[in-house]
Amino acid sequence: MNGSCIFCKIVDGSIPSKQVYEDTEMIAFHDIHPAAPVHLLIVPKVHIDTLAECETQHHGLLGKMLALAPRLAREAGVGYEGREAPGGFKTMINTGPGGGQEVYHLHVHVLGGPRPWAPR
Ligand code: 5GP
Ligand code: ZN
Repeated sequence: MNGSCIFCKIVDGSIPSKQVYEDTEMIAFHDIHPAAPVHLLIVPKVHIDTLAECETQHHGLLGKMLALAPRLAREAGVGYEGREAPGGFKTMINTGPGGGQEVYHLHVHVLGGPRPWAPR
């Protein structure tokens, strides 16, 4: 827990969010400023500033966060249904100023829905 971190506050419930998923290690909720018709954030409960600070002990967590994306996309109506179907989604992790990161608590963006939309 990092007292000044907005995503730690969402994890502990002191700031509300439109949550779509929770387990012992992570939560997922709708982005407050969606960049696509569906824009979810997958956030670990543990505070890690960036992807670059992940260590061996976090590899399992990273795998689970990524593996959750197709399920949440499907539940939000933008799941991948094969190469001939229009569905599908983008997963994105921004790291540091050069990566356009705004919130320094690791998170995976899941974006999808009818185009055009242009994620940052
Ligand atoms: P980053 O640029 O760090 O990869 O993405 C941070 C994302 O968090 C942005 O898309 C921004 O809209 C979202 N965000 C920032 N503050 C809040 C908040 O208080 N609630 C929610 N739901 N999303 C937020
Ligand atoms: Zn945090």
